[in-house]
Amino acid sequence: MREGDFFIPRFPQGEISAGDSVHPSQMARESKRAIAENSYLHLKPGVTLTKRGASYTLGLPTHGICIEEPLQVQMVRSLNGQQTLREISRGLMWELPLLMDFAHTLSEAGLIDEAPLPLELPSPKNGDLSAELMRARLSAELSLLTHRTSHSGGGRDEFADRAHFRILISGETRLARHLLVAMHASGFTSTRLIPRAHLPHHLTSDDVCGIVVRPEDIGKLRSTFTDDLIRGAQISKPEVDAGVRPDLIISTVPIEWDYIQRWMSEGSLHLQINQIIGREIEIGPLVMPGRDPCLRCVRLTKGDNGTDVSHEYIRSQAPTAAISYISGLIALAIGEYFATGESLLRATSHWYDLLAPLRAPDIRHWNFHPECGCQ
Ligand SMILES: [Zn+2]
Repeated sequence: MREGDFFIPRFPQGEISAGDSVHPSQMARESKRAIAENSYLHLKPGVTLTKRGASYTLGLPTHGICIEEPLQVQMVRSLNGQQTLREISRGLMWELPLLMDFAHTLSEAGLIDEAPLPLELPSPKNGDLSAELMRARLSAELSLLTHRTSHSGGGRDEFADRAHFRILISGETRLARHLLVAMHASGFTSTRLIPRAHLPHHLTSDDVCGIVVRPEDIGKLRSTFTDDLIRGAQISKPEVDAGVRPDLIISTVPIEWDYIQRWMSEGSLHLQINQIIGREIEIGPLVMPGRDPCLRCVRLTKGDNGTDVSHEYIRSQAPTAAISYISGLIALAIGEYFATGESLLRATSHWYDLLAPLRAPDIRHWNFHPECGCQ
């Protein structure tokens, strides 16, 4: 643990000043919000209470708060999601308003989740395999999402919202299928795959990557295989109606200008994933028509710089590990965009070196090109 990363709040006379414990991160931007006395609180996944000399630290390996008051330590130990704040107050014989202030501090520091019902504990095998599977998979998803914000019901709100977004993956490639699986498994259950080319009706050896499409899948009807893929990846069957207009189009094949023109005129948000050229793949930009430079602006700028773009027109398949890496990265980035409304991919391309994958990507920002007229 790096002590310098811990924000240590002041505890004058046993009281917590709620505004003092906010960490300079996403959590710091959250607005103040009261915690209900009848709510059930529990520590977020990964948060631990550790004794350090005379005091305790409560937090993640990267940040947390220092706790010195024994009563506060006892309260933290009571946060198992099985008692309301009022019940904890009675048990510890600690005034409810003071306890709620401390709970608020913990919430603002992004260390606890609040729920209207007791936390559901993993139950011994009860025979309902489908429910158990759903619980285990959802738990894995929420254990990450809950750290985005303190106020999303332990990540449940963000996860539930995902089913409402209509996403099209344009171009049926091995990467597109991986991405389809990653999106459905992440709760984006209104994601569809659009072939964008005349492909054989049945899967061929070109489709095999060894993970999503295996050699024994060759010869299966393409459309049926995709439906099975979606069924297998979805955590649950979607129960919401997604809109008709896509909320996002992700293109995984070379640019075809008639498609781009249609997306621009319809005002559809779209993300370009370029072909692997040499050892790098270019991801981005994410284009909000009329507000961001379009793909034609990018192409014109590349032309001005003397960049040879001829390979960008050649449809190719990526190696399997690169596909897994990129599809996971994109699925996480899309999750971030829909949760926050922000993305570092807007008006920006990121080039990832797939032979040095842990190196930070090269980044280039795009401007509107004077010859384009998309502004
Ligand atoms: Zn443009």
